[in-house]
Amino acid sequence: MTFFEHLFTPWRMKFIKEGKKAKNCVLCELIKLEDGPANLVLYRGQFNYVVMNKYPYNTGHIMVVPYVHSSHFEQIKHEVLSEMMELAQKMMRLLLHTHAPEGFNMGINAGKSAGAGIPDHLHYHLVPRWTGDTNFMPLFGGTRVLPETVEETYERLQNALSTQL
Ligand SMILES: [Zn+2]
Repeated sequence: MTFFEHLFTPWRMKFIKEGKKAKNCVLCELIKLEDGPANLVLYRGQFNYVVMNKYPYNTGHIMVVPYVHSSHFEQIKHEVLSEMMELAQKMMRLLLHTHAPEGFNMGINAGKSAGAGIPDHLHYHLVPRWTGDTNFMPLFGGTRVLPETVEETYERLQNALSTQL
């Protein structure tokens, strides 16, 4: 948008401001939707929710997402952070129960240059690993053949959630 467009179409500015959070952020959008296989939201905490990655790096790839729209890990409040870790731990227990992974990659890609797919809305990745699962394919990129669909994984985890947590 040019300066002149900005000047003469102030309604657009309003649209852009509101749209940034509600319309352009996939992770904000998920907060408003009903949980279920369609949006892959698994669990909602007080400050964070848990969602399956639609394009998983591996089977059981989960993300813990703060409700607050922020890219700044260094500014995230303590209670949000602490629940984020608690939920990551709970999900790890759940995945150990359902899929028996041998290891996990966990962490945050903060910023586009660090490989964040959605750089504007911080999220914590939990990726189950099995020995030899990647065969030197890059974990954070490329196409993978997964042994079950994301929907199947969601179903298994959702069933386990009702008995495990
Ligand atoms: Zn957002």
